[in-house]
Amino acid sequence: MPLASGRPLGACAGLVALLAGAAPAAGASNPATVPPDTSRATRVVMLGTGTPNPDPDRSGPAVAVIAGGRAYLVDCGPGVVRRAAAAAAHGIRALEADRLSIVFVTHLHSDHTVGLPDLMLTPWVLERRVPLEVYGPPGIKDMTDHLLAAYAEDIRIRQAGLEPEKSDGYKVNAHEIEEGVVYSDSNVTVTAIAVPHANWEHAFGYRFEARDRVVVVISGDTRPTEAIARACNGCDVLVHEVYSIKGFKNRPSVWQRYHADAHTSTEQLAGIATWARPRLLVLYHQLFWGVSDEDLVREVHRGYSGAVVSAHDLDVYPLPAEKAHPKKK
Ligand SMILES: [Zn+2]
Ligand SMILES: [Zn+2]
Repeated sequence: MPLASGRPLGACAGLVALLAGAAPAAGASNPATVPPDTSRATRVVMLGTGTPNPDPDRSGPAVAVIAGGRAYLVDCGPGVVRRAAAAAAHGIRALEADRLSIVFVTHLHSDHTVGLPDLMLTPWVLERRVPLEVYGPPGIKDMTDHLLAAYAEDIRIRQAGLEPEKSDGYKVNAHEIEEGVVYSDSNVTVTAIAVPHANWEHAFGYRFEARDRVVVVISGDTRPTEAIARACNGCDVLVHEVYSIKGFKNRPSVWQRYHADAHTSTEQLAGIATWARPRLLVLYHQLFWGVSDEDLVREVHRGYSGAVVSAHDLDVYPLPAEKAHPKKK
């Protein structure tokens, strides 16, 4: 699967380009020939664009914001570590398994968290020596505690046997968050945005402001909310979940009721995007219900004239070059 195949369907094709220096040449298939990506510029890598539907071409929801050479994950749907490995094999070194050390969970729905034990344990087996930092809604601590208990025998056997890795890298520091700034380091400041999602008491989107002033907002699962538009407010990339309004009309009424309460239609997203004014709107967690990527984008464009792409796994969105300068204080 080609990396960085962001299919620019909107008016701003230049914004979605091959990752400079890291993308394979046309026809190249051997990742070993790909030069490592040494850029410290902020980028967004779509590790998983799927939903609970087990589409083999779409891993479960997971997005990586790469900033200052470090990967900050949002969600850990099924397949997350293998998709990260695929991106790493194509040059994005920050996504090598042993460097996956922080994740921000939007909510505790299984499609967004089934990859959590993978993210906790696989990088440890591959010699990650630091605990995984997990930020998420109340309940995330119980989830990680229970997962560690479930895998206690694996952890014990690996540590007692001949496997050389004896570090504490399997451990987890779980941080239960509220809305507001939840994390900051020399690369990014991360703000949690409370969003409405069916009957979840706690669900979040995340806003990343990188040191190079790039702002990325990721909606998580949400029905339409001003909170996301306000958090974006002219941001560089808005990654937003979506369902097809055409497909919705053919859904059984009991499911229509649920989806209207939990998710955002193309029509509603057009309104959100018009208000939010992102430089690029990226559709993910797409509920197609029989329509194509192009149809989804067309549906959004009925009410929104900005740049829109319907993401695929392993798409990479480099951020605008003119903003890729450290902030002058
Ligand atoms: Zn979901
Ligand atoms: Zn959900």
